[in-house]
Amino acid sequence: MQSFLFAGRDGRGAARLLSMLMACCCLVLSSALLLVALATPAHAAVLSLDAPHSTGDGKPFVVTVTADAPGDVVLDWRGQAVTVPMAADGTRTGWTGQAILAVPLDAKPGTETLRARVAGQPKAVSAQTGVTRAIAVVRAAYPEQRLTVEGKYVNPDKAALDRHEAERVRVKAALALRTPERLWALPMERPVAGDVSSLFGLRRVFNGEPRAPHRGLDLRGEAGEPVTACASGRVVLAEKHYFAGNSVYIDHGMGVVSMYFHLSAMDVAPGQTVARGQAIGRVGSTGRVTGPHLHFGMAVLGDMVDPQVLLENAPANTGATTRE
Ligand SMILES: [Zn+2]
Repeated sequence: MQSFLFAGRDGRGAARLLSMLMACCCLVLSSALLLVALATPAHAAVLSLDAPHSTGDGKPFVVTVTADAPGDVVLDWRGQAVTVPMAADGTRTGWTGQAILAVPLDAKPGTETLRARVAGQPKAVSAQTGVTRAIAVVRAAYPEQRLTVEGKYVNPDKAALDRHEAERVRVKAALALRTPERLWALPMERPVAGDVSSLFGLRRVFNGEPRAPHRGLDLRGEAGEPVTACASGRVVLAEKHYFAGNSVYIDHGMGVVSMYFHLSAMDVAPGQTVARGQAIGRVGSTGRVTGPHLHFGMAVLGDMVDPQVLLENAPANTGATTRE
């Protein structure tokens, strides 16, 4: 029986048609194989994550990622994506990188999911392209503190509030920086040698009125004593603010920004690169304070966190007095 496909009148015509058809099929098939090859990377890195199983609100933690192939890794954390620069690991056959992450003060207890994926891969993580880790969020314990300061700092007038609002916009822009390079190193250096006079997270009551919790670490220091950068970075702000007084903000990359408040002098300018341990200003009592000290702050992906966790020789808390 002659197929209607082979319309030729003899067997040779049918054979010619058949061979043409087969050639076409081969072309289509090989094109399909080429597309599959293009769509599949030669070797998608296999990732592993080292992160804590739980974290307290406002407490930063370190995540270490390792991969068996080179290339950037992206961490998805609470709606933000952090690119982790990876470097060859001298001790093993692999690549490794670190990031600092946190949940903000007063974050709801529950579970957050941390995802690590090869840069360029979609968020939906498969075993081939990434890993996930569930991190429990628990409430850290923060004490309450009562302070007495000048009345204008508890109930500022409209001009002061307008000024504060304008400053907040500039600070927000500084904290929104996501410089891809990692300029920080752990542990970070204490910016002054003094002990802690006021902890991060204190629930504060000013002149009897509850106000926002303390979002930094107060360190004792003599007026005029040098204040040094906790890690390498780039100065993003160096200006006088209403509450914080003379303030220096340093961007350390990957969403990590440190800040130094109430300075009597600022010795750096925006755009300037600073090294870990470099003097950036002097201890003072500008802004809303009860005496000279350094208010040392740290932001991770825009949230204020407790810097004490990241410091070498975490300073002793001698409690008692207070500063703001
Ligand atoms: Zn303070």
